[in-house]
Amino acid sequence: MVNNPSSIKLRAHHLLCMRGFKGYGYSKDFVNNLRSIIDQLTAHPTTEIEIIDECDAICAHCPHKKNDRCAADKNAWQRIKERDHKVLQALTLGVGTKINMIDLTILIEEKLNTPEVVQDICGNCIWKDICLNQTNSSTIKCFANFFRNLFKE
Ligand code: SF4
Repeated sequence: MVNNPSSIKLRAHHLLCMRGFKGYGYSKDFVNNLRSIIDQLTAHPTTEIEIIDECDAICAHCPHKKNDRCAADKNAWQRIKERDHKVLQALTLGVGTKINMIDLTILIEEKLNTPEVVQDICGNCIWKDICLNQTNSSTIKCFANFFRNLFKE
């Protein structure tokens, strides 16, 4: 049974994490939570998403979250925030923007549609190669059911 939250907060770079998700993550709980969020948004793509640059519903089940901050390493809090800001800049959105998943997906596909753009944003993220393994030619395809299903409603 999929819940139907009316809104959810997501930090900006997690939009890329969700698109590239292949079932990997920092812990079993983290993976289950991320999969659940993707399932919820797939089932209810008109859910309002507030784009933020701090810990969100995905971080909530991450073992690296300490005191409401990303503590994956000593520079993580600042580095991850900068990654969020790069995504926001690429999408021409601001912190606190509220948008539904359908409109957001269209925007992502328009603005974050090449491996080069994603490489630049993701930097040395340990999951980058797995996420980008979804690419072919120069254009990133929407492989995740998450994105494919959005357009079926
Ligand atoms: S590594 Fe940091 S930014 Fe990523 S989910 Fe965990 S707490 Fe959040």
